[in-house]
Amino acid sequence: MTETDYDIIIVGGGMVGASLAIALKSSSHKIALIEAFDFKTNQQPSYDDRGIALSYGSQRIFNTMGLWQQLAPHTTAISDIHISDRGHFGATRLSAQKENVPALGQVVLARAMGKVLNQAMSENKTLDILCPNKVIALNKQPHHIALMLDDDRTITSKLIVAADGANSTIRYLLDLSITEQDYQQTAITANISTERPHNHRAFERFTEFGPIALLPMPDNRCSLIWTVKTGDETAINELDDDAFLARLQTEFGYRLGKLTQVGRRSHYPLKLTQTDQPIQDRIVFVGNAAHNLHPIAGQGFNLGLRDVIALADVLIDEVQDCGAPKHLHDYQQWQQRDQDHVIKATNLLVRLFSNDNSMIGHGRSVGLIALDLMPPVKHWLAKKSMGLGKKQPRLARGITL
Ligand SMILES: Cc1cc2nc3c(=O)[nH]c(=O)nc-3n(C[C@H](O)[C@H](O)[C@H](O)COP(=O)(O)OP(=O)(O)OC[C@H]3O[C@@H](n4cnc5c(N)ncnc54)[C@H](O)[C@@H]3O)c2cc1C
Repeated sequence: MTETDYDIIIVGGGMVGASLAIALKSSSHKIALIEAFDFKTNQQPSYDDRGIALSYGSQRIFNTMGLWQQLAPHTTAISDIHISDRGHFGATRLSAQKENVPALGQVVLARAMGKVLNQAMSENKTLDILCPNKVIALNKQPHHIALMLDDDRTITSKLIVAADGANSTIRYLLDLSITEQDYQQTAITANISTERPHNHRAFERFTEFGPIALLPMPDNRCSLIWTVKTGDETAINELDDDAFLARLQTEFGYRLGKLTQVGRRSHYPLKLTQTDQPIQDRIVFVGNAAHNLHPIAGQGFNLGLRDVIALADVLIDEVQDCGAPKHLHDYQQWQQRDQDHVIKATNLLVRLFSNDNSMIGHGRSVGLIALDLMPPVKHWLAKKSMGLGKKQPRLARGITL
């Protein structure tokens, strides 16, 4: 077998790439991770002030990876989810108590999660972290892949894991096609303080332009994701804080009393981007590099973490050649259905709940009332949003989700 510098190179040290490096820490493989932004200065763009809702399934994965203890102090439990539709009757509530679980999920600031993941990675002395470094070219050989870095180094590996985000450089270098849907929506994010306590409730409110989500955070703050029509975000972001809160209050209502304060605002254009062939010879795409989702259902990272754990499961055994087609096909067989389901369900939610057609509006309010009256369907929805599917993964290191 050809000698290579590494068995596995992970390109991208965001939430997904970092989680994979940590999940593989007890394997005997020689692993490198390449990240464009310096960890020490905490500048990675996705480790910002967005609130990430971690599903119950993700919590259990982090627990098995030995990371939950470090993450837990930064998280806020979601005990209930309140779903409503602006201008229509009908609302439904999902409850941890009814589902017999300690919490439906946990909210963590992306910035806080970044610190925990970066710390755990830097404690792993067998991992080579090449950072700040960018991959700028790639050369495929039958038995290895060579990567050229921006400091003129060339390194080789049996397997490349592309975890380099929605605008993946690896995908660009391979000239791979994508399927893209531009929703013409933009998410505005900020932290909000409210008059009444959230009491660990999360809110998802659908409006004719898109959903508004408020996730519970410490100190009675909430993490806001407000979806608006692309083009409208500039005018909304230019409003002063009082005018911004007044506009949001009109859309969200008074379930948490008066909205009293807003922190720094950011915005993100929303698109579905899917890499058409996420498995190549000795290359696999995971996380946003494989599928970048609308945040409507808070599933993007949760799905990426399931990619990670399924891939780690395939690679962690005493595998000789990590890039051998068998391992990549095993991974794809395991993860493809999960990815297809989550992408389809997210897309359907975006279409259904972002349409101001009155027939659809009427239909979905009936749907919300029906959902509230049908415990088995609610139970199914709650299980899905907790990341607990019907078919439970077999995971080598004893994770049963
Ligand atoms: C507003 C908003 C709210 C969200 N809320 C939720 C939620 O509640 N729950 C949830 O599960 N998900 C949520 N998500 C989705 C979640 O943020 C993403 O799924 C997650 O950040 C993807 O992580 P990633 O590591 O795949 O990609 P990224 O975070 O994009 O990381 C990619 C990394 O690769 C590096 N990189 C890129 N190119 C190169 C190169 N050439 N060489 C070296 N390094 C490179 C980048 O610097 C970056 O650090 C939300 C997203 C948004 C926008």
